[in-house]
Amino acid sequence: SDHQLDYPRCPSEMNWDTHFQGFESPVPEFADVGCGYGGLLVGLSPLFPKTCMIGMEIRVKVSNYVKERIDALRYQNEGQYGNISIMRSNAMKFLPHIFEKGQLSKMFFLFPDPHFKKKKFKARIINECLLAEYAYCLKEGGLLYLATDVEDLHLWMIDHCEKSPLFQKVDEEIVRNDPVVQHVLYSTEEGKKVERNNGKKYMAVYERLSSN
Ligand code: SAM
Repeated sequence: SDHQLDYPRCPSEMNWDTHFQGFESPVPEFADVGCGYGGLLVGLSPLFPKTCMIGMEIRVKVSNYVKERIDALRYQNEGQYGNISIMRSNAMKFLPHIFEKGQLSKMFFLFPDPHFKKKKFKARIINECLLAEYAYCLKEGGLLYLATDVEDLHLWMIDHCEKSPLFQKVDEEIVRNDPVVQHVLYSTEEGKKVERNNGKKYMAVYERLSSN
């Protein structure tokens, strides 16, 4: 559980050098929150070779798997995949200890655990309090990507984003032309599973507004 997780006291204590390869002083700009087996990172890595991306995953075995997956990709493809990495962490805690204000340009919440029971709604990774933290970590104009196959959770997530003064929904037309969206829907392991089962997918993209 959490007490075994080490958090830096503040973002300047984060040592990103150990995470990324081939960068002078790397700082991640994309965060995949609850990244699972890392399919999104692997899919986006060649699309944004100059951008560092960090996956956050709470499960030990899964985060170890992602580390090994990335190590193997780096080994097999020299000079590639140095821009993606994984950290084991509880993303519902201490995000502002990890990221500077406005550090991120994209955050991903893809197929998060739905927590169906009303009593468990507070465990949902999109809520009023955490949205304010995500807004803090995102730069103005930064994007929050949401995807799920659970309609009830989709409605919950967009309802919270709509209520937040810090976010505005991105127009469908712009979303359609965003090359990242294909990966959001089809590159993650959960997205692939939903695809195999012919499940419906819901997605939305919100932009971080300026706070003043
Ligand atoms: N995004 C991936 C995908 O689309 O394939 C994984 C989806 S999976 C249903 C949800 C993941 O979020 C699980 O791997 C779970 O361990 C992770 N997770 C749940 N709560 C978390 C938290 N507080 N911090 C980090 N990861 C979390």
